[in-house]
Amino acid sequence: MIRFSLHCDHAHEFEGWFRSNDDFETQRKRGFVSCPECSSQRIEKALMAPAVSTSRKQEKMALALGDEQRKMMAALKEMSAKVRENAENVGDKFAEEARKIHFGETEARGIYGAATIEEAQGLAEDGIEFMPLPVFPDDRN
Ligand SMILES: [Zn+2]
Repeated sequence: MIRFSLHCDHAHEFEGWFRSNDDFETQRKRGFVSCPECSSQRIEKALMAPAVSTSRKQEKMALALGDEQRKMMAALKEMSAKVRENAENVGDKFAEEARKIHFGETEARGIYGAATIEEAQGLAEDGIEFMPLPVFPDDRN
């Protein structure tokens, strides 16, 4: 079903539901479509159907969101690359090394690596500051 915004030759506006544009034209020619206010059968479709304008608005919003996400991903990727340039990769020993650095058992330096969720929670509970780095699909190669 398609909703059409209609108006008669007296500029009364109303809405009608039709199976298709052809269905509307057929019913109009047979005189089945008439204005609910003045019963005029001189009916025209309004140029803007609300259903159409709504879906176009949603499309635009989706595109804008995509752009924002792409920008954010690019910024994250740049930040993540900088961290990797200036820090030592300690792999799975991240939690262990972060603790040693925090408690002064080894030299203070920038490190990055992998930690399980439990390890990360443990570090946070010990008051050790760290920043989660995003993992991008092409980083795994
Ligand atoms: Zn009318």
